[in-house]
Amino acid sequence: MNAPVPSNSTQVENAKLLIDGRWVESNTTEWQDVLNPATQQVLARVPFATLEEVDAAVQAAQRAFTEWRQTPIGARMRIMLKLQALIREHSKRIAAVLSAEQGKTLADAEGDIFRGLEVVEHACSVGSLQMGEFAENVAGGVDTYTLRQPIGVCAGITPFNFPAMIPLWMFPMAIVCGNTFVLKPSEQDPLSTLLLVELALEAGIPAGVLNVVHGGKEVVDAICTHPLIKAVSFVGSTAVGTHVYNLAGQHGKRVQAMMGAKNHAVVLPDANREQTLNALVGAAFGAAGQRCMATSVAVMVGESRQWIPQLKALAEQLKVNAGSEPGTDVGPLISPRAKARVEELIESGVREGARLELDGRGVKVPGYENGNFVGPTLFTGVTTDMRIYTEEIFGPVLVVLEVDTLDEAIALVNRNPFGNGTGLFTQSGAAARKFQSEIDVGQVGINIPIPVPVPFFSFTGSRGSKLGDLGPYGKQVVQFYTQTKTVTARWFDDASVNTGVNTTIHLR
Ligand code: NAD
Repeated sequence: MNAPVPSNSTQVENAKLLIDGRWVESNTTEWQDVLNPATQQVLARVPFATLEEVDAAVQAAQRAFTEWRQTPIGARMRIMLKLQALIREHSKRIAAVLSAEQGKTLADAEGDIFRGLEVVEHACSVGSLQMGEFAENVAGGVDTYTLRQPIGVCAGITPFNFPAMIPLWMFPMAIVCGNTFVLKPSEQDPLSTLLLVELALEAGIPAGVLNVVHGGKEVVDAICTHPLIKAVSFVGSTAVGTHVYNLAGQHGKRVQAMMGAKNHAVVLPDANREQTLNALVGAAFGAAGQRCMATSVAVMVGESRQWIPQLKALAEQLKVNAGSEPGTDVGPLISPRAKARVEELIESGVREGARLELDGRGVKVPGYENGNFVGPTLFTGVTTDMRIYTEEIFGPVLVVLEVDTLDEAIALVNRNPFGNGTGLFTQSGAAARKFQSEIDVGQVGINIPIPVPVPFFSFTGSRGSKLGDLGPYGKQVVQFYTQTKTVTARWFDDASVNTGVNTTIHLR
């Protein structure tokens, strides 16, 4: 088998497609470089697959479905048990590749893998997750029960910011439920995803059950319109997610689209000051702000506004450097384009009258002069009509708004169209209870800045951050990846009395 991911050799190699259990070189003429965001070193080239290659991957998945759907639950679970062991074993190696291609620190890269690994662990309990229901004697001698059956070929389209966790949200749960899968990783950093797929094959996933195609809009559109694909999971920006949701929906598919965000942290003056400020700084600037659950807005309530100078002082101490360097807090952004966009948004904040307390533009990192670095950036005096408030920046930029009461803070958060995550910092149980009840955001943290649920719950972003009713992982994704069939059954006992013809709709 050809390795899917280039080795350490100095020669730049091509990322492979996985079709029907074989790693193959694409026939395409369109390629993109995978660049190290700290150096611009070319790590590999990624193909934009042809439509024939996408079709070949889907056809392979369709063929494999016939046998895979009949594979016993225990056999499917044991593959996931092996996969979780392999991911643990190779975690450091994958983290090094992930950090090099994505830019995040090694510790954060390991976290990216670990949060995905937890989903694989959860997939090992599919036996109970996929159980149906049974009601005995719903009428005389009649039982009703449900089967949760796989739906067929499913597809996943993933973003650049979590190249391990998000693919692992998708294919393990889809496959363990008896489906087959076509994965389209981010073209910006597909290498660590490919290492995980290679481990999945080593764990025993049969040929055709998991396939990989690379590309951009053309490949995504081919997935969304392919007649054999039954369900599409998307994670990425709001613009693309809305397009995917509409296109795949028009073509009769189930779709879940997890999209952009603007996550508010509301700080009450009774909160633990040190813990709160540390949490804000970590959640705003960690991973260079390229987390969909990053805190991008701090809402300081009442007297807590006096903490802003301390917030700035903490942000100033963060070390900007390549993710591979020890002690780095803030790595580079994914691309020169992303850096230019973030800098342009910072400029818009200045133009629109916000106070730029800390400016991360123009930061110089010795030894990494070509990196896409933007340092921690802090705005105060922000109003809700400014672009730095209305747009997802997806960089290390925290905007601070000030209000007088918790009610005002809740109203402010609820007026924002996004609903991915929010947090409240307080020592008051009554305030926390009011907040969790009245806030219209799908994931709430109480003294927790990035409230991403563990895999036995589901990821439940809401409103403008999500399209489709069922979220990734947990019980919801088992529903997403299965079709419920309800059986109503009567078995006649030969000795039973003949009940005669019944022309009503009632069961007796
Ligand atoms: P993106 O939307 O640019 O790309 C996501 C996927 O869509 C990639 O695989 C890409 O190849 C494909 N794509 C890009 N342009 C396309 C087009 N025009 N038509 C069809 N497909 C296209 O997102 P990104 O920049 O990789 O990731 C960052 C975004 O993802 C942020 O908005 C972030 O908030 C969001 N995100 C959301 C969650 C969540 O759970 N809500 C999680 C992670 C990231």
